[in-house]
Amino acid sequence: MSIQVFGQPVSRGVAIGRAVLVASSRVDVAHYFIDPDQVEAEVGRLRDARNEVAAELIALKSEVPEEAHAELVALLDVHLMLLHDELLSDATKQWIVERHYNAEWAMSAQLEVIARQFDEMEDDYLRERKADLEQVVERLLKALTRQTAPGGHHAGSGTARDFAGEDPLILVASDIAPADMLQFKRSVFTGFVTDVGGRTSHTAIVARSMDIPAVVGAREASRIVRQDDWIIIDGDAGLLIVNPSPIVLEEYRFRQRQIELERAKLNRLRHTPSVTLDGQAVELLANIELPSDAQAAIEAGAVGVGLFRSEFLFMNRDGELPDENEQFEAYRAAVQAMGGLPVTIRTVDVGADKPLDRMSAHELRHEHTLNPALGLRAIRWSLAEPEMFGEQLRAMLRASAYGKVRILVPMVAHLAEAQQIRLALERAKAQLDAAGQPYAQVELGAMIEVPAAALMMPTLMRHFDFVSIGTNDLIQYTLAIDRADEAVAHLYDPWHPAVLQLIERAIANANEAGRGVSVCGEMAGDPAFTELLLAMGLRSFSMHPAQIASIKQRVLRADVRTLRAQIGAVLAADSPQDACALLMKARAH
Ligand code: PEP
Ligand code: MG
Repeated sequence: MSIQVFGQPVSRGVAIGRAVLVASSRVDVAHYFIDPDQVEAEVGRLRDARNEVAAELIALKSEVPEEAHAELVALLDVHLMLLHDELLSDATKQWIVERHYNAEWAMSAQLEVIARQFDEMEDDYLRERKADLEQVVERLLKALTRQTAPGGHHAGSGTARDFAGEDPLILVASDIAPADMLQFKRSVFTGFVTDVGGRTSHTAIVARSMDIPAVVGAREASRIVRQDDWIIIDGDAGLLIVNPSPIVLEEYRFRQRQIELERAKLNRLRHTPSVTLDGQAVELLANIELPSDAQAAIEAGAVGVGLFRSEFLFMNRDGELPDENEQFEAYRAAVQAMGGLPVTIRTVDVGADKPLDRMSAHELRHEHTLNPALGLRAIRWSLAEPEMFGEQLRAMLRASAYGKVRILVPMVAHLAEAQQIRLALERAKAQLDAAGQPYAQVELGAMIEVPAAALMMPTLMRHFDFVSIGTNDLIQYTLAIDRADEAVAHLYDPWHPAVLQLIERAIANANEAGRGVSVCGEMAGDPAFTELLLAMGLRSFSMHPAQIASIKQRVLRADVRTLRAQIGAVLAADSPQDACALLMKARAH
């Protein structure tokens, strides 16, 4: 039976494929296709792992005196029984033989199938055996990682090349942390669905940067979808369709082809200069998460990087942060890949929904701190860790010897922070001078993402060389809506007049002060806002590389002179709906 589930649209387009259910705790399991001629060897790996775990369990059993620990011995017997159960061993083998999944992936895919069966059991005792099964699979996965995979693959992903000839796959999970999502870049998956998250949660942002359809906040999705079901993701509507009927499937295949044609058309704009109808030049920059993303930025025709989210270098490292040299190499790689175009590197922005170490959204919200978005995140954390901050600043300065680097600081709200940042930068320069390390002139910028900063623009402009408006957080903090919480996602509205007024004011103040101003939040890559931002005086937009072509198309068709006269009414609207309607009317003129 076909089922529809609504969530938050994240990334445009349509994906059709088989569901791969992954438990949130297991997203770091390697997912790649093996070559058909490796099937036997892969089944062999599975067999070896099983033998290894059996030996482990038997050894454990012999070490505990039965008289004293009868319960433990019985438990180990259950584990041994589960290990040899056909439902686990034969079915896992089937995933390898028929689907060419690598052994770790086959194992976790089958675990999800059996776990679902356990969940549906009436008998409490049997239902609780799920935990035992998970422990056995955990042992098997560990045994598999101890072996070297034949293709030398690592956690998370295979490459797009591996994917030819197989059914397209869509990842379905309850929750995926942003850093985990990152490991799926260039992976075998052609779409993503998660139960939790809002449109501008960082998981959604990373999914969007991959330019494949995704839906977040689809609440029950991971419970409703079964392993290997055919599913459709409608990334425009935020819709997930499970087991679609042949007619629906055909309709979506048609839409998929249309979208591909449109994209091909847009791609032809890649090298067209972005200038409005009335001759205003507009700078289109890229947002990147990793140095390797710079390639996509260049290919999309970006004229620089407007936001390099450096925190992704810091996450999921079990507390071990990247040192100055490691960071320097990463920043230099991005700078060199951009071949002389400016690269704006943001100082580390961890906290809120980007924890340093792997943590689920639930843990974050309920166990970490009460209000992580209002806590020690972004620049607050950097100033609290002066040594770490110094290392990062030195690494950025050193990269400036290889190309144009600009340093951007997230979540500035106080003048005192500006002063402390300047001091830290001067100290970093003095240390490099003392060590004889070269660096070039760098501009220092502030992100405007807290209402306090938007209201203090004239003061802040005296201390920073440029600003970049982070609309994702500016909306979150202006409307008091957790951007990662799907329960309030309907209230997270960029059209809210309070948000629009703050953005307009920030742009006007920066322009008056003769300082560079750009928008690097998700609004910059949303064509619905292009004309409005242009009319507010914005001439620099930073977005995911995949969004550049459609924003450029908007820019080429915009006439700023006529729009400018109309925005007063949009800003003075009573509600988000009115603001949106008024802009539509202005565009129709
Ligand atoms: C923003 O807040 O708009 C922004 C660009 O930063 P991030 O999304 O990484 O918080
Ligand atoms: Mg932000």
